[in-house]
Amino acid sequence: MGSRPYRRRLAWGAAALLAAGVAVPAAAAASDHGSPSDVGGHGPKKAKNVILLIGDGMGDSEITLARDYTVGAAGRLTMDKFPMTGTYTTYSVDKNGKPDYVTDSAASGTGWATGQKTVNGRISKTPGTDKPMTTILELAQKKGLATGSVTTAELTDATPAVLASHATDRSCAGPADMKACPNDTIAKGGPGSIAEQSVNHKVDVLLGGGKDRFDQKITEGPYRGLTVTQQAEKLGYQVVTDSEGLRTARSGKPVLGLFAPGNVPVEWTGKAAAVGGTAAQRCVTSNPERKAGTPALEEQTRRALSLLDTPKAKKNGFFLQVEGASIDKRDHAADPCGQIGETAALDRAVKVARDYAAKHPDTLVVTTADHGHTSQIVPLEATPPGLSSTLITNEGRQLKVNYSTNTPGKAQEHTGTQVRIAAQGPGSQRVLGVTDQTELFTTLRTALSLR
Ligand SMILES: [Zn+2]
Repeated sequence: MGSRPYRRRLAWGAAALLAAGVAVPAAAAASDHGSPSDVGGHGPKKAKNVILLIGDGMGDSEITLARDYTVGAAGRLTMDKFPMTGTYTTYSVDKNGKPDYVTDSAASGTGWATGQKTVNGRISKTPGTDKPMTTILELAQKKGLATGSVTTAELTDATPAVLASHATDRSCAGPADMKACPNDTIAKGGPGSIAEQSVNHKVDVLLGGGKDRFDQKITEGPYRGLTVTQQAEKLGYQVVTDSEGLRTARSGKPVLGLFAPGNVPVEWTGKAAAVGGTAAQRCVTSNPERKAGTPALEEQTRRALSLLDTPKAKKNGFFLQVEGASIDKRDHAADPCGQIGETAALDRAVKVARDYAAKHPDTLVVTTADHGHTSQIVPLEATPPGLSSTLITNEGRQLKVNYSTNTPGKAQEHTGTQVRIAAQGPGSQRVLGVTDQTELFTTLRTALSLR
């Protein structure tokens, strides 16, 4: 009798881990992977809150590179410690619904935001008929949850855009960028640019880059003559532009944080990969282009969680998405140090989310990627085509990384590989096995009981 509750408590986790083909001793499952209630079925059944962390372009290679470089081959990142780890497919579709094996961030984000696949470049609209599809953030708002979106990219970039806007093309970021979205303009009775839609949606916390987009003038509709930033202020937003502003913003009133004119400059720098390789290098863990007072993703995440701590969220819960955007952008640029620094930055944000969930077990935390990317770890003796660089890791070993998905001189490409999805908390068992990206929508919706 005495051992029964313990066995019952472990039964779920053990079965799940076995189903995933992982042999993990019970003691290990209960230590590094959190308390048995994280792993097993004794925690809350329903989630009150969701924190969804996206590493843009963070395939298995990108995770492994960051692990090898920072904590060593035998070390573990925070994102490696989730009790539930599975893998999901990410393909997009063409306008007839046929598979397109390599997705972009717009179609990919639309997948988990709406549960439906679309064409590359499209933001939460159908592939053929270009009609808006309801998003997870819209459903959360309808049920009274507080909502937030945090990114290191422009706030109008594809991954944040899929939550609170609907656009024919991802390029329609600000009012002056509407060329590819003739039917979305306010003049045509559409919802306007991604920036306008994001603030019109009254998302409680919007933090990231892209100030220049929000400073564009609106040329049509009720806010004509104002910038989107001014429109946001009219709608009740507090607008902040640095760490100090973020720290002093008050909760209970929506916050728009714009911390850079474009993408937020990355944390680490180093030599880009080159044809024939580079001399062995250590990454520089700073960036002169990053202004003092630029909040790190970790700080943005921590602050978003405290700003979301409102009476509304206390009663109904919250949905927060956090994106580490420039893993992708530095992978495109074959810049291993930039890429690894951004992966490490996202991992620190994952720690913030896990620490929050440790105190609030009714929080579902999911960490995943939107698509695979180009970087590959290759043997030191290899002489691969394309661009390579040799790094000296923190454990003092040499590591060679290669970028060969495109001709040198052109941007490196996404890949069509499956990517990791890992989770903890209510409903997290749904990420086990091999799933598709669109199933993440159902996982989130089910956990939060959204209709
Ligand atoms: Zn990309």
